[in-house]
Amino acid sequence: RAKDEGPGRSIIFDTSMHTQVRERIELEVALRQALAKEQLHVAYQPLVRLETGIPVGAEALVRWMHPERGPIPPMTFISIAEDAGLINAIGTWVRKEALRQLGVWRSEGTVHDDFYLSINVSPRQLSDPELPLIVSGEMVRYGVPPHCVALEMTESVMVDGSSVTSRVLFELRELGVRLLVDDFGTGFSALGYLRKFPVTGVKIDRSFVTGLGVNHEDDEIVRAVVAMSHALGLSVIAEGVETPLQREALYAVGVVNGQGWLWGAAVPADEFAQRWRDVVMGGPAVPEILENQS
Ligand code: C2E
Ligand code: MG
Ligand code: MG
Ligand code: MG
Repeated sequence: RAKDEGPGRSIIFDTSMHTQVRERIELEVALRQALAKEQLHVAYQPLVRLETGIPVGAEALVRWMHPERGPIPPMTFISIAEDAGLINAIGTWVRKEALRQLGVWRSEGTVHDDFYLSINVSPRQLSDPELPLIVSGEMVRYGVPPHCVALEMTESVMVDGSSVTSRVLFELRELGVRLLVDDFGTGFSALGYLRKFPVTGVKIDRSFVTGLGVNHEDDEIVRAVVAMSHALGLSVIAEGVETPLQREALYAVGVVNGQGWLWGAAVPADEFAQRWRDVVMGGPAVPEILENQS
């Protein structure tokens, strides 16, 4: 487009491109240091049963506190990490830290035996044939059974994934960990991958949750997603639940579990334990009966 708008335009365009590239390179350098200096953290957001408000688990979300710039959102630095070949190192660090923390919470009695952590994994991580063996070793090391671990991946992993990725997914499922499709509904209209890969559940993207109870089309989309998921034996978690109206609408169409600011944002481990320990341990030890989890 720059070339259609004359030479002056083109120079401005190039300058701002240059600034953007420099910005990314600066962040990449800083991110390498952050990883080395342990300036990354993991925050935990409850995954709750809509009916009771009691957490069944939590999602582990990476946080980066830049010494000068303050917090940098994952939306900004995850893509940089992917381009810079840092995502494996970051993903590995987050997963180990989360599993270590869950091991501690389990041994302290902060969480019940079925409480699970859901951890985001990038496509690149899932193309590593060693991943299942590594994850299995970490679970043993930290005393975390496989049903207490979920891995979240985007639809693109299954649509673009190689045969290696496919094998990795089957081996992970063989271990007994849950495999969840993150941001479900945003990527592809073809749903064939749900049959082809051993996924155990979907997380309905926040963009479909926002309009619930107000926008009739969103209600219908979510209703259809739930019907299909349950027919396929998949669990359903709704993302980005912010209002009681959204929770009611989700409950009405049969969604069992949700995540969102209505119950709490992602917080550091100690804060999570303080806020949720009594609720998690005090709640009835109901198995996830409504979930068709194997
Ligand atoms: P995601 O996996 O879909 O995570 C959910 C995002 O929604 C999180 O943003 C969470 O803080 C935010 N959220 C939760 N409840 C609400 C709500 O009620 N309203 C709104 N507006 N937002 C809510 P966050 O932590 O900024 O992470 C953004 C994305 O970055 C994640 O989306 C995930 O794709 C990626 N990410 C985060 N941690 C990791 C990681 O360790 N590894 C990888 N590969 N990606 C990660
Ligand atoms: Mg996620
Ligand atoms: Mg998500
Ligand atoms: Mg999302």
